[in-house]
Amino acid sequence: VFCRAYIPGVRERTLVAVKPDGVQRRLVGQIIQRFETRGFKLVGLKMLQASEDLLAQHYASLNRKPFYPSLLRYMNSGPVVAMVWEGHNVVKSTRMLVGDTNPAEAKPGTIRGDFSIHISRNIIHASDSVEVAQAEIALWFRRSELMEWECCDHGSVYQL
Ligand code: UDP
Repeated sequence: VFCRAYIPGVRERTLVAVKPDGVQRRLVGQIIQRFETRGFKLVGLKMLQASEDLLAQHYASLNRKPFYPSLLRYMNSGPVVAMVWEGHNVVKSTRMLVGDTNPAEAKPGTIRGDFSIHISRNIIHASDSVEVAQAEIALWFRRSELMEWECCDHGSVYQL
C-alpha cells in the first residue's frame, strides 16, 4: 500500500501448478521454497483434483496436439497443487526458474532440469505470458482465494 507502487509491475502474477507427478514424488515443498527464497510472494495456494473440464479449458490451445489425450489423463491422474506467485517480472522469471518444457533441454538448476527427465512427466506448469497468466489465474482461482498482503521485507527485495 505504501511502498510497492514505486516499482512498476511489482504486482504481476503468475499461475504455477505442481503436476500429479510432482505431488506423488513429494516435491511440493522444494518447489515452493525456490519461489520463496527468490523473493516472490505467495498470494494463492490450494490442492485439488483438477476436473476434465478445467483441464480442457487450461490446455485448450493444445487440443489438436497428438499428446493432448495423454496430457489430460496425466493431469487428471491425481491431485495437483496450484499456486499464484506475485512480484516484479514474475511470469518470465518463473519460466526461467522452471526451465525448458522438455527436461532433456532444461538446464541444471532449473526445477525441471533438477527434478525430471521426460517431457511427459515434467512435474510443473507455469504460465507463459502475462496475458495467459491472467486467464489461467481466473480459471483456477476465485478472487476470494487470492490474498492481498504486504511482505515485511518488501524494501529489501525491491528498492524503496
Ligand atoms: N507435453 C507433452 N509432450 C510434448 C509436449 C508437451 O507431454 O511433446 C506436455 C508437457 O507436460 C507440457 C504440457 O504438455 O508441460 C504443455 O505443453 P506446453 O508446450 O504448453 O509447455 P509448457 O508451457 O508446460 O512448458
